[in-house]
Amino acid sequence: MDASLSSDDLKFREEVRAFFHNAEPEAAQQLINNPRTYKQGAVQWQKKLHEKGWIAPFWPKQYGGAGWTVTQSYIYETERVKANAPDVVPFGLKMVGPVIYTYGNDEQKARFLPGILSSDDWWCQGYSEPGAGSDLASLTTRAVSEGGDYIVNGSKIWTTYAQYADWIFCLVRTDASGKPQQGISFLLIDMNTPGITVSPIQSINSVHSLNEVHFENVRVPKANRIGEEGQGWTYAKSLLAHERTVIARVADSKKRLNTLRQIASRELQGGQPVIKDASFRHRFTNIEVELMALEYMELRVLAAMARNESPGAESSLLKIKGTEIQQALHELTIELAGIYGGVVLDDGEPGSSVGHDFGDSARKDFMYGRASTIFGGSNEIQKNIIAKRVLGL
Ligand SMILES: Cc1cc2nc3c(=O)[nH]c(=O)nc-3n(C[C@H](O)[C@H](O)[C@H](O)COP(=O)(O)OP(=O)(O)OC[C@H]3O[C@@H](n4cnc5c(N)ncnc54)[C@H](O)[C@@H]3O)c2cc1C
Repeated sequence: MDASLSSDDLKFREEVRAFFHNAEPEAAQQLINNPRTYKQGAVQWQKKLHEKGWIAPFWPKQYGGAGWTVTQSYIYETERVKANAPDVVPFGLKMVGPVIYTYGNDEQKARFLPGILSSDDWWCQGYSEPGAGSDLASLTTRAVSEGGDYIVNGSKIWTTYAQYADWIFCLVRTDASGKPQQGISFLLIDMNTPGITVSPIQSINSVHSLNEVHFENVRVPKANRIGEEGQGWTYAKSLLAHERTVIARVADSKKRLNTLRQIASRELQGGQPVIKDASFRHRFTNIEVELMALEYMELRVLAAMARNESPGAESSLLKIKGTEIQQALHELTIELAGIYGGVVLDDGEPGSSVGHDFGDSARKDFMYGRASTIFGGSNEIQKNIIAKRVLGL
């Protein structure tokens, strides 16, 4: 792709900057940073984007997308991070939304897409189970046909923000007789249906975002099944490729790298700014170079997606490199925080810190960041995908 900006692109960049200037993204980000006001902040921000017509720029125009070019998406993302503006919650907008408009029927599109765009419906992802993570096809949550409904029994785990969700998109087993990948169906389930319980899992950063979701004789209309019965694996795979592309988070890492540069220029070690230390510089510049390479890889994938090509196995490359870079940045930042990076303040309020002003966030980011090489399909599994589909091994 051509990465230079045309006069239209420059005009668009001004529009994006003006929007972020007026929309008070930092106030929304503050609400999001506080676990008690997380959902309120996310919904408030997303409604502003919706009003502007920018909530799902990557969707086809006919379903409410903005019809942006790849360069416009890139500009938006770069400016978003510069303005400290929140990213959207991915489960509705970046995961199930594209599955519904690609594989759903007209009634399903009319029923579900508006609530995703307006953020009136909060979605969560019910793929993983206590006995099915990397080997997702071994999932055992059963959906048994009964007239016009399915009766669902089983459990999902690690379900992010299920405590807020109105809807869950689920992989369920409708047939156990063939190969594991066959006989899986893709269901949209109303979280208010009798028989669903959500139990919290406290994560290492002291935040409650993870849950177990249990289904006991949950009645789900067959009208809520996406596509064909038994074809859920195909739909699930297309969603995962998009999910992995999202996880690379290049613009966020660029911002983090700049913040780290500022901290290292200000923090002293042996009377000298840390940035002058040869070993620090070596690690810092290694990350910088890798991030630059990742950015170009991401642009290539985005350009392919703009030509309506599926991100495919390239999304696995992005996921591996993107998450390794995120973790390397977290590690360098927490090293700079030193012992203050280990101080845990009991109230869970963001912004409170002892010693360095970045100590508390460095610790939380470092701890939660360990998960990035696991979620969206672990990095080892992504390497298996690359071995098979890219290298043909
Ligand atoms: C913070 C967080 C949020 C999440 N959110 C959600 C969510 O919202 N919805 C959802 O459905 N799931 C979610 N997940 C689940 C996530 O997708 C799984 O954790 C992930 O797929 C790994 O599965 P597992 O935890 O069962 O680990 P396992 O599959 O048991 O893997 C354990 C280890 O073995 C390795 N391994 C396994 N198989 C192979 C193999 N064939 N070759 C090489 N190495 C292998 C793995 O890489 C890993 O290191 C989330 C997970 C985390 C950590």
